[in-house]
Amino acid sequence: MTGIRVLAVASEIYPLVKTGGLADVTGALPLALTAEDVTTMTLIPGYPSVLAALPAAETVFRIPDLFGGPARLLRGMVAGLDLLALDAPHLYHRPGGPYAGPGGRDWPDNAMRFAALARAAAAVAEGCLPGFVPDVLHAHDWQAGLSPAFLHYSGTRRPGTVMTIHNLAFQGLFPADLLGPIGLPTHAWDIDGVEFHGALSYLKAGIALADRITTVSPTYANEIRTPEGGMGFDGLLRARSGVLHGIVNGIDDAVWNPAADPLIASTFDARHLGRRAANKRAVQDRFGLTRSPDMLLLGVISRLTRQKGLDQLLDNLPAVLGLGIQLAVLGTGEPAMEDGFAAAAAANSGQVGSVNGYDEPLAHQMQAGLDALLVPSRFEPCGLTQLCALRYGTLPVVARVGGLADTVIDANEAALAAGTGTGIQFPPGMFMPAIERTAALWRQPAAWNRLRRNAMRCDVSWRRPAAQYARLYRDLIAERGS
Ligand code: ADP
Repeated sequence: MTGIRVLAVASEIYPLVKTGGLADVTGALPLALTAEDVTTMTLIPGYPSVLAALPAAETVFRIPDLFGGPARLLRGMVAGLDLLALDAPHLYHRPGGPYAGPGGRDWPDNAMRFAALARAAAAVAEGCLPGFVPDVLHAHDWQAGLSPAFLHYSGTRRPGTVMTIHNLAFQGLFPADLLGPIGLPTHAWDIDGVEFHGALSYLKAGIALADRITTVSPTYANEIRTPEGGMGFDGLLRARSGVLHGIVNGIDDAVWNPAADPLIASTFDARHLGRRAANKRAVQDRFGLTRSPDMLLLGVISRLTRQKGLDQLLDNLPAVLGLGIQLAVLGTGEPAMEDGFAAAAAANSGQVGSVNGYDEPLAHQMQAGLDALLVPSRFEPCGLTQLCALRYGTLPVVARVGGLADTVIDANEAALAAGTGTGIQFPPGMFMPAIERTAALWRQPAAWNRLRRNAMRCDVSWRRPAAQYARLYRDLIAERGS
């Protein structure tokens, strides 16, 4: 088969607009897919940051009226990405974030803003751009979820469709009476269509009507089919099991490369682990910790929300510190948790440090200098931070959920005997035993360094995931007889 053309549809793409891991995936996957003979054009909303990055973009299609104003599609290249920006001033030209205005309140017209994105996607999928007819439309998260629906109900010949769930918690729920205004037919209001417990759900639309569904790890793909993990979608996802796949994310192994990282005090590789010592000192200094090479330095780099489970760390703090562990916490999120870590640092200076904020350079320095990274999430679709930790030989200590379960090999007795572990995994609820096990392993430097080297040898790049997406696209195209 010759090369595959994909139209990706998303509301975020690194490096232009990012609020979470979604942007990392949509920014990295197209580049990795080129090695698989897959070319991707990505449709994104024309937010101010997007238009600013595309000053010379060409207008390739005009829509005289898209939900109350004129719109056009602009095409241009940024950072190796072939982009199609939906320039619709009445929907996207405004200050603030992609979903909410200053003050954090959701834009009141989000239903129209992302219905517009999907309508434009459907137009491109149906061939409105001369010379570009995609073989596959790949929708990411609820903001793109209506695009498979518009194609499904249009009845015209269309490309195959893939819906990727990055986090089932975000469901794009809107009032039922918007069905007509966004341009869906009455019969779309159905249990097998876009209806979800009396509301219109853009995510449901994509899950119900795309030809394939993917999510970002095999374990999360299993969890979301259970009542506990399905957030109301488990029945539908069980019914669609045959087309649901879990593909783990990768990270950019050039940006996250301990041997050439300009953001860390001392570069190193698996054969020169001694060079990590300067990084540990740098982290200890930055967090106001005593310069103790022999204390286990455990870190957190995270959004501070209930999903991430870090309340378990605050609740068990005396016991953790009693094991002689140093703690460095970088995070931002719920005020109660931010305050909790700031108070812990104030009360235990020299042993606990906290930095409140989002700080990418500091995250690099921490990955290079920590001994272990704690990720005790309640649920975790994939998780990226543990992948960065593996790459830098910082042992991930993770809850056995979602992508954390799929990317870390627990250093249990069998794994230690076979020399295969890469971190510590614990069943949800077994937090302290895991910390105790980590502390015990730390007291065995030869075993610890072996685990570090194993971790650094893991392939956490996009190569394998890209090959899996390419296979999925190929199977879908073959099935549809294109
Ligand atoms: P999520 O997307 O749920 O926040 P992920 O682990 O999938 O969690 O991706 C988040 C990424 O952002 C990780 O690479 C993590 O290290 C990074 N990150 C999270 N919080 C911070 C922070 N406060 N400063 C710097 N980087 C952070």
